[in-house]
Amino acid sequence: MRAYIDMHCDVLTRVWMHRDKDLYKTGSMVDLQRLKAGGCRMQFFAVYMLPVSLKGFSETVFPGDEDYINKNLDIFYHTCKCYPDLLRPVYHPGDLEEKDWEGILGILTLEDGRAMDGRIENLDKFYQKGIRLITLTWNDANCFGAPNSRHTAMMETGLTDFGHQAVERMNELGMVVDVSHLSDGGFWDVAALSRKSKKPFVASHSNCRALNPHPRSMTDGMIRALAQCGGVMGVNFRPEFLTGDVRCKRSKAEDIVRHLRHMINVGGTDCAAIGTDFDGISGRLEIGGPEQMPLLFAELERAGFTETEIEKIACRNVERALKDAL
Ligand SMILES: [Zn+2]
Repeated sequence: MRAYIDMHCDVLTRVWMHRDKDLYKTGSMVDLQRLKAGGCRMQFFAVYMLPVSLKGFSETVFPGDEDYINKNLDIFYHTCKCYPDLLRPVYHPGDLEEKDWEGILGILTLEDGRAMDGRIENLDKFYQKGIRLITLTWNDANCFGAPNSRHTAMMETGLTDFGHQAVERMNELGMVVDVSHLSDGGFWDVAALSRKSKKPFVASHSNCRALNPHPRSMTDGMIRALAQCGGVMGVNFRPEFLTGDVRCKRSKAEDIVRHLRHMINVGGTDCAAIGTDFDGISGRLEIGGPEQMPLLFAELERAGFTETEIEKIACRNVERALKDAL
C-alpha cells in the first residue's frame, strides 16, 4: 500500500467533544486504526480553536484557550504513550528519518493563532509543548491578521505588526507558518517574510481559486509564490471547495485529482500535497476517511500522473518542506 502524509485533520477536537480518551478507535472520520488501514505515514493533528462566537454560548462548557489546547495535547500524548508502536510525535527533521519504524508520525498544529494573545513569548511556550505549525488565522481576525473574505478591504488586509514579528520568530524557531484561511494581503506578507528567511511556508488545507471562486482558495499567483518559496499546499476534500458550488455536498476522487493537476500545472510538481480536512468536513464523499485513500492514488494513476508525481504528492513534497522548515 502507498504511504501518504495528510497535512490537516480535526479529530482531536472531535475526541475532546465526545470526551473520549485517545485516538485509537473513535466514532469520528479519523483514528489510528483507519490511518493504518489507509497507509498513512504522517498525520498532522490540528488543535482547532473553537470559534469565539461558539465559546460565548456557554462559558461553563468551554474552557479557556490555553486549558482547551492543553486538553487536546493531552489526548495526543496519551495516545502516543498507550500505543507507542502506532503513534509517535515529530519535533525535529531527524524524527522524519525513522525508516525502520512502521507506525504513524504525528505532528501537532494549532488552527488559529489567537491563543498567542499578541505575545511573542507565547510562541516559544507552545513550541515547548510540541506544536510545530500554526494556521495563523481561522475565519476571524486575530492578533496575526485578517481572514479570507469576500469583502475587498478585509481580503487586502495584511499581517499586523505582531503578525510580522511572530512569523519571523516562527521561522527562527522552526515552527511552520500556515496560510490556509488567511487573507490575500496576509498571504503576500508571509511570502515576503519567507523569501527573506529562506524558510518555506504551507497552505495546509487549501484548493485552487481558478477552479473554485471561494476566497478560501489560492489564486494562481499565490500558488506560484508559495512554490517559489519551497512551500506546499494540501488539497482539501471539502465538496464546496472542490466543486466551486457552495451548495454541493458530494465529491468524487476525480474532483480532488482536478485540483492536484492544476496545482502542478501552475506551481510545478514540488508544491502539490494532501490536506484532507477529515473531521472538519461532511457530505457524501467518495473518499470519506483515511481507509479510502488508496482510491485517490488509483485515480491519480488512472488520470495519467507519473509515479514520481504521485510519490511527491503522497509524501515527498511535505517531507522536503518539513525538513527545510523545522
Ligand atoms: Zn480549517
